[in-house]
Amino acid sequence: MDASPVDVDLALVGGGGAASLVLAALDRHDLTGLRVAVVDPVHKRGQDRTWAFWGAPGTDLDPLLSAAWSRVDVVTPAGRRDLSLAPLRYAMLRSAPVYDRAAAAERRLGAVRIAAPAGELRDDGHRVTVHDFDGRPVARAGWVLDSRPRPPRRPGRTSWLQHFRGWWLAADRPTFDPDRAVLMDFRTPQPARGVSFGYLLPVSDRYALVEYTEFSPAVRTDAAYDAALRGYAGLLGLDLAALRVREVENGVIPMTDGPFVPRPSARVVRLGTAGGATRPSTGFTFSAMLRQAEQVARELAAGRPPVPAPAYPRRHLWMDAVALRALDRGHVAGVEFFDRLFERNPAERVLRFLDGVTSPAEELAVMRSSPLLPMTGAVLGDAVDRLRTRLRRDPAVTPVVEAGSRTAGQTGS
Ligand SMILES: Cc1cc2nc3c(=O)[nH]c(=O)nc-3n(C[C@H](O)[C@H](O)[C@H](O)COP(=O)(O)OP(=O)(O)OC[C@H]3O[C@@H](n4cnc5c(N)ncnc54)[C@H](O)[C@@H]3O)c2cc1C
Repeated sequence: MDASPVDVDLALVGGGGAASLVLAALDRHDLTGLRVAVVDPVHKRGQDRTWAFWGAPGTDLDPLLSAAWSRVDVVTPAGRRDLSLAPLRYAMLRSAPVYDRAAAAERRLGAVRIAAPAGELRDDGHRVTVHDFDGRPVARAGWVLDSRPRPPRRPGRTSWLQHFRGWWLAADRPTFDPDRAVLMDFRTPQPARGVSFGYLLPVSDRYALVEYTEFSPAVRTDAAYDAALRGYAGLLGLDLAALRVREVENGVIPMTDGPFVPRPSARVVRLGTAGGATRPSTGFTFSAMLRQAEQVARELAAGRPPVPAPAYPRRHLWMDAVALRALDRGHVAGVEFFDRLFERNPAERVLRFLDGVTSPAEELAVMRSSPLLPMTGAVLGDAVDRLRTRLRRDPAVTPVVEAGSRTAGQTGS
């Protein structure tokens, strides 16, 4: 058996969502001369998740979409908002066509598959050696794009989860309106700490995804998700006895201000959730992964290092940390927070804001219209107060300032 590592220009360590989008982008940019390896014990195929995201129509993903809606509803106990998303649209993409496209791209690129779990990555500044779990080198690459799941570098000050269960419901007769999708429906019973909502994404008049989602500190039991889904189906007026649950989709996504490291060493770039593509305040990840995949391919096509821009601007991460903290500490109620965002802004602005692609002026408008501005004041005030108290109480903290003056005094005397 030949045990020598494969030599490539680019190794994708982890071959899930982020890597699949990168493979498709490399193919789109016709980077067939590039030597590529994919290291993942699992070759992702078929349906294991459904991506919902917003964006402008007319991209090469359009033929892969299961459905797209130019209007969506946001529902609270107070009423229903019918939002026009133009010029954007909300889209649903099932994983199977994404993995199929990635597999076709892999073939065209002549990529090598290494069906082993990757262990250590050793970066000497010129090349990166990818080892398996037994410490054997399996690949040597000019660059590594690492999307293996991993926690943030340190725990966040707030660590919530977006956790959910969805049922794909099939009906024998017309039951759903394929032109009407529900983005968020907050009539679900709200958890003591956190926020919950349901949503409905119909792909035809007889087939729809109904999902129950929570943003909160901990996952729930199977029975609790099922009960929540039954309750939400009841709110939608669906007769579950007349419907079949064809597929079940579960997920847990981090919502945290803990820092994800996008570039752990000179020639290793982290992508996907591991690289910080998950927006802390919403759990949405897909659009950032898509953006970064395109940037990676564009950079390589131009002969530059495959380093994408950060998934979100720093100021967005800061705002998310504030929002998460305010929700977690009860400074603001989750339903009120999201309701006001959609009440006082064009939906398109809110969606672009949540994707992290708004201008500072638009962000100010969003902040002004949400409880975020008073919250920010509260959080900053709280932080300053706590720091002051600590400085007063803990003499070990003050010498940082005083040590300088003391030293100056000593040397001067
Ligand atoms: C059910 C579900 C639904 C989601 N829906 C949405 C949505 O609607 N919209 C949205 O924006 N986001 C959504 N997300 C969040 C996010 O878009 C997905 O989690 C996305 O798949 C993240 O891509 P990734 O490449 O970071 O991770 P993954 O797709 O999980 O890929 C990680 C890969 O790493 C591999 N791996 C693990 N260990 C090793 C190892 N040691 N060596 C090599 N490979 C390894 C795994 O086998 C896997 O293939 C959803 C997530 C889930 C779980």
